[in-house]
Amino acid sequence: ETPDLREMLLGRIKDVPDHPKPGVMFKDITPLLADAEAFSALTGALAELCVRYRADKVVGLEARGFILAAPVAVRAGLGFVPVRKAGKLPGATLGQSYDLEYGTAEIEIHADALAPGDRVMVIDDVLATGGTAEASLQLIRRAGGEIAGLAVLLELGFLDGRGKLAAELRDAPLEAL
Ligand code: AMP
Repeated sequence: ETPDLREMLLGRIKDVPDHPKPGVMFKDITPLLADAEAFSALTGALAELCVRYRADKVVGLEARGFILAAPVAVRAGLGFVPVRKAGKLPGATLGQSYDLEYGTAEIEIHADALAPGDRVMVIDDVLATGGTAEASLQLIRRAGGEIAGLAVLLELGFLDGRGKLAAELRDAPLEAL
Protein backbone atom coordinates (compact mmCIF):
# COMPACT_ATOMS: atom_id res chain seq x y z
CA GLU A 1 0.00 0.00 0.00
CA THR A 2 1.04 3.65 -0.10
CA PRO A 3 3.94 4.71 2.18
CA ASP A 4 1.72 7.41 3.73
CA LEU A 5 -0.97 4.96 4.78
CA ARG A 6 1.62 2.54 6.10
CA GLU A 7 3.23 5.27 8.16
CA MET A 8 -0.09 6.53 9.49
CA LEU A 9 -1.10 3.03 10.59
CA LEU A 10 2.25 1.99 12.06
CA GLY A 11 2.49 5.25 13.99
CA ARG A 12 -0.76 4.44 15.79
CA ILE A 13 -0.01 0.86 16.82
CA LYS A 14 1.55 0.65 20.25
CA ASP A 15 4.05 -2.00 21.31
CA VAL A 16 3.22 -3.33 24.78
CA PRO A 17 5.94 -5.64 26.11
CA ASP A 18 5.09 -8.76 28.13
CA HIS A 19 1.34 -8.70 27.47
CA PRO A 20 -0.61 -10.93 28.01
CA LYS A 21 2.41 -12.89 29.27
CA PRO A 22 6.19 -12.49 29.54
CA GLY A 23 8.03 -12.56 26.23
CA VAL A 24 5.11 -11.41 24.05
CA MET A 25 5.28 -8.00 22.37
CA PHE A 26 1.60 -7.14 22.11
CA LYS A 27 0.53 -4.93 19.20
CA ASP A 28 -2.13 -2.63 20.63
CA ILE A 29 -4.34 -1.20 17.89
CA THR A 30 -6.60 0.84 20.20
CA PRO A 31 -4.76 4.15 19.47
CA LEU A 32 -5.40 3.56 15.76
CA LEU A 33 -9.09 2.77 16.36
CA ALA A 34 -9.45 5.95 18.43
CA ASP A 35 -8.11 8.12 15.58
CA ALA A 36 -10.97 8.86 13.17
CA GLU A 37 -8.72 9.60 10.19
CA ALA A 38 -6.53 6.52 10.62
CA PHE A 39 -9.45 4.16 11.32
CA SER A 40 -11.26 5.45 8.26
CA ALA A 41 -8.14 5.14 6.09
CA LEU A 42 -7.66 1.56 7.33
CA THR A 43 -11.21 0.43 6.69
CA GLY A 44 -11.17 2.20 3.33
CA ALA A 45 -8.02 0.37 2.26
CA LEU A 46 -9.46 -2.97 3.39
CA ALA A 47 -12.72 -2.25 1.56
CA GLU A 48 -10.69 -1.56 -1.62
CA LEU A 49 -9.16 -5.02 -1.28
CA CYS A 50 -12.67 -6.50 -1.11
CA VAL A 51 -13.45 -4.84 -4.42
CA ARG A 52 -10.10 -5.73 -6.02
CA TYR A 53 -10.50 -9.42 -5.16
CA ARG A 54 -14.23 -9.51 -5.95
CA ALA A 55 -15.41 -10.59 -2.52
CA ASP A 56 -19.07 -11.45 -1.87
CA LYS A 57 -18.79 -11.60 1.93
CA VAL A 58 -16.50 -10.30 4.66
CA VAL A 59 -15.52 -12.66 7.48
CA GLY A 60 -14.10 -11.19 10.69
CA LEU A 61 -12.16 -13.26 13.22
CA GLU A 62 -13.07 -12.82 16.90
CA ALA A 63 -12.46 -10.49 18.52
CA ARG A 64 -10.41 -7.64 17.04
CA GLY A 65 -11.12 -8.86 13.53
CA PHE A 66 -14.78 -7.96 14.17
CA ILE A 67 -13.88 -4.33 14.84
CA LEU A 68 -12.24 -4.03 11.43
CA ALA A 69 -14.38 -6.35 9.33
CA ALA A 70 -17.79 -4.87 10.20
CA PRO A 71 -17.08 -1.33 8.92
CA VAL A 72 -15.20 -2.80 5.95
CA ALA A 73 -18.28 -4.83 5.03
CA VAL A 74 -20.49 -1.73 5.22
CA ARG A 75 -18.05 0.33 3.13
CA ALA A 76 -17.71 -2.41 0.52
CA GLY A 77 -21.48 -2.97 0.39
CA LEU A 78 -21.10 -6.58 1.54
CA GLY A 79 -22.51 -8.74 4.32
CA PHE A 80 -20.51 -9.56 7.44
CA VAL A 81 -20.05 -13.08 8.83
CA PRO A 82 -18.42 -13.76 12.21
CA VAL A 83 -16.00 -16.61 12.91
CA ARG A 84 -16.33 -17.04 16.67
CA LYS A 85 -14.68 -18.91 19.46
CA ALA A 86 -16.49 -22.20 20.13
CA GLY A 87 -19.77 -22.11 22.03
CA LYS A 88 -20.90 -18.57 21.16
CA LEU A 89 -22.95 -18.94 17.97
CA PRO A 90 -26.58 -19.94 18.60
CA GLY A 91 -27.39 -21.85 15.41
CA ALA A 92 -26.05 -25.01 13.78
CA THR A 93 -22.29 -24.60 13.43
CA LEU A 94 -19.21 -26.07 11.81
CA GLY A 95 -16.13 -26.17 14.02
CA GLN A 96 -12.40 -26.31 13.44
CA SER A 97 -9.79 -26.86 16.12
CA TYR A 98 -6.16 -25.85 15.88
CA ASP A 99 -3.03 -26.06 17.97
CA LEU A 100 -1.85 -23.31 20.27
CA GLU A 101 1.54 -23.09 21.95
CA TYR A 102 -0.02 -24.94 24.88
CA GLY A 103 -3.20 -26.90 24.08
CA THR A 104 -5.80 -26.34 21.40
CA ALA A 105 -8.49 -23.83 20.48
CA GLU A 106 -11.67 -24.16 18.45
CA ILE A 107 -13.49 -21.68 16.23
CA GLU A 108 -16.94 -21.92 14.67
CA ILE A 109 -19.04 -20.50 11.85
CA HIS A 110 -22.78 -20.82 11.30
CA ALA A 111 -23.24 -23.75 8.92
CA ASP A 112 -25.59 -21.70 6.69
CA ALA A 113 -23.64 -18.41 6.81
CA LEU A 114 -22.24 -18.72 3.30
CA ALA A 115 -23.90 -19.50 0.00
CA PRO A 116 -22.11 -22.13 -2.09
CA GLY A 117 -19.26 -20.45 -3.98
CA ASP A 118 -19.37 -17.20 -2.00
CA ARG A 119 -16.02 -15.43 -2.32
CA VAL A 120 -14.91 -14.51 1.17
CA MET A 121 -12.46 -11.82 2.29
CA VAL A 122 -11.10 -12.84 5.69
CA ILE A 123 -10.04 -10.01 7.99
CA ASP A 124 -8.08 -9.93 11.23
CA ASP A 125 -5.90 -7.40 13.01
CA VAL A 126 -2.62 -9.29 13.49
CA LEU A 127 -1.18 -12.30 11.69
CA ALA A 128 1.18 -14.01 14.13
CA THR A 129 1.85 -17.76 13.76
CA GLY A 130 -1.00 -18.10 11.27
CA GLY A 131 -2.78 -20.82 13.23
CA THR A 132 -6.03 -18.87 13.62
CA ALA A 133 -6.08 -17.81 9.99
CA GLU A 134 -5.31 -21.32 8.74
CA ALA A 135 -8.18 -22.81 10.75
CA SER A 136 -10.48 -20.03 9.48
CA LEU A 137 -9.65 -20.73 5.84
CA GLN A 138 -10.36 -24.43 6.40
CA LEU A 139 -13.65 -23.61 8.11
CA ILE A 140 -14.79 -21.22 5.37
CA ARG A 141 -14.08 -23.78 2.66
CA ARG A 142 -15.96 -26.44 4.62
CA ALA A 143 -18.90 -24.02 4.87
CA GLY A 144 -18.96 -23.78 1.07
CA GLY A 145 -17.02 -20.56 0.61
CA GLU A 146 -14.10 -19.73 -1.64
CA ILE A 147 -11.24 -17.61 -0.32
CA ALA A 148 -11.08 -14.25 -2.11
CA GLY A 149 -8.20 -13.24 0.16
CA LEU A 150 -6.87 -12.82 3.67
CA ALA A 151 -6.23 -9.25 4.79
CA VAL A 152 -4.61 -8.15 8.04
CA LEU A 153 -3.52 -4.84 9.42
CA LEU A 154 -0.20 -6.16 10.64
CA GLU A 155 1.92 -9.21 9.89
CA LEU A 156 4.59 -10.33 12.38
CA GLY A 157 7.03 -11.46 9.72
CA PHE A 158 9.48 -13.17 12.07
CA LEU A 159 6.82 -15.77 13.01
CA ASP A 160 6.36 -16.74 9.34
CA GLY A 161 2.59 -17.11 9.44
CA ARG A 162 2.78 -16.49 5.69
CA GLY A 163 4.82 -19.67 5.27
CA LYS A 164 2.44 -21.69 7.44
CA LEU A 165 -0.52 -20.44 5.40
CA ALA A 166 0.95 -20.98 1.94
CA ALA A 167 -0.65 -24.37 1.35
CA GLU A 168 -4.06 -23.43 2.75
CA LEU A 169 -4.17 -20.12 0.85
CA ARG A 170 -3.65 -21.94 -2.47
CA ASP A 171 -3.73 -19.05 -4.97
CA ALA A 172 -5.53 -16.56 -2.72
CA PRO A 173 -3.66 -13.36 -1.81
CA LEU A 174 -2.45 -12.50 1.69
CA GLU A 175 -2.36 -8.73 2.12
CA ALA A 176 -0.80 -7.03 5.15
CA LEU A 177 -1.33 -3.29 5.19
P1 AMP B 1 -1.94 -16.56 15.38
O1 AMP B 1 -3.00 -17.62 15.35
O2 AMP B 1 -0.71 -16.98 16.11
O3 AMP B 1 -1.63 -16.01 14.01
O4 AMP B 1 -2.51 -15.39 16.26
C1 AMP B 1 -3.37 -14.54 15.70
C2 AMP B 1 -4.39 -14.01 16.68
O5 AMP B 1 -3.84 -13.67 17.95
C3 AMP B 1 -4.92 -12.76 16.09
O6 AMP B 1 -6.32 -12.81 16.16
C4 AMP B 1 -4.32 -11.62 16.91
O7 AMP B 1 -5.34 -10.74 17.26
C5 AMP B 1 -3.73 -12.27 18.14
N1 AMP B 1 -2.29 -11.96 18.33
C6 AMP B 1 -1.25 -12.83 18.25
N2 AMP B 1 -0.09 -12.27 18.52
C7 AMP B 1 -0.36 -10.97 18.78
C8 AMP B 1 0.44 -9.83 19.15
N3 AMP B 1 1.77 -9.91 19.30
N4 AMP B 1 -0.19 -8.65 19.33
C9 AMP B 1 -1.52 -8.56 19.17
N5 AMP B 1 -2.32 -9.58 18.86
C10 AMP B 1 -1.76 -10.78 18.66
